[in-house]
Amino acid sequence: MNDLATLARVSAELGGNRLLVQAAGGNTSVKADGVLWVKASGRWLAKATDEPIFVALDLARLTRALTLGDPACETCEAFVRADLSSPNLRPSVETTLHAGLPQRFVLHLHCVETISYAVLVDGAARVAPLLDGLKWQWVPYIRPGLPLFQTITPGADIYVLANHGLVVAADALDAAVGLIETVGRRLARPLQAAPSGSRRVERAGYRFADAPALAPHAVRLAAAGSYYPDHLVFLGSGAALIDSVVGAPPVILAAGVPPLAREDLTPAQLAMAECLGDVAARLAPDDRPRYFTAQEEHDLTHWDAEKYRLTSPGSA
Ligand SMILES: [Zn+2]
Repeated sequence: MNDLATLARVSAELGGNRLLVQAAGGNTSVKADGVLWVKASGRWLAKATDEPIFVALDLARLTRALTLGDPACETCEAFVRADLSSPNLRPSVETTLHAGLPQRFVLHLHCVETISYAVLVDGAARVAPLLDGLKWQWVPYIRPGLPLFQTITPGADIYVLANHGLVVAADALDAAVGLIETVGRRLARPLQAAPSGSRRVERAGYRFADAPALAPHAVRLAAAGSYYPDHLVFLGSGAALIDSVVGAPPVILAAGVPPLAREDLTPAQLAMAECLGDVAARLAPDDRPRYFTAQEEHDLTHWDAEKYRLTSPGSA
């Protein structure tokens, strides 16, 4: 199918840009001929042209189930078209979000520029003037999956998901990609310079992530908690400070250098260590992040869908 091939090509391009997608994060979809093609959980958008990463679902049955509040919508596995899908692929945790928006193409990305505002207490007010003139909505943080679907109101082209990322939707794929470019340009933030003459930091068993060196305030803000789901799921809560490390955490932060990543991290964890550096380097000294509460962290880490994502082949 032509739409799917085009979506795969564009998804691979988006997935190759770490400022838009990290590891198995993000997901894309197209609705065509009564089928919703959506990225499979745990698969990497970057691999969209190398291997099957999309699952087919019966859109009419899924839409009806959503209207009825059918609990099968939590995983959506009951609506998979096995005749069209590769075996052993499970629909994305965000499948209901993709089904619920009326536009043909829906792209959900963990855009770093967007996240750097979406994690702020006053993010909505900061973003509003920058996205002026666009059809956009701010979506207060809610657990991904069914709760997020239930919170989003169709009618916009752009959704900024607090403490999470970005969703754009359009009937033409070119238009959807254009929205991503527009949002990225309007929300672009300068990197906050690390202090000059950075001290030498070395630690056995760790190497620097491919990310910007962090200023002292960025280290302080990044270490204080978790503020988007994939950080928590892949790296655990918050990040360790170099002066108070206990054990061998996945990531250690120190001023003047990029995040230190433990040498045995999986590719997915390493991508999240880079993302932490990319996001934190954009935070200003007076920014006030909204960290996940203990309850929000519990809900994310005890959710079956995330446990699956953590252990799926794409994450290894
Ligand atoms: Zn997401």
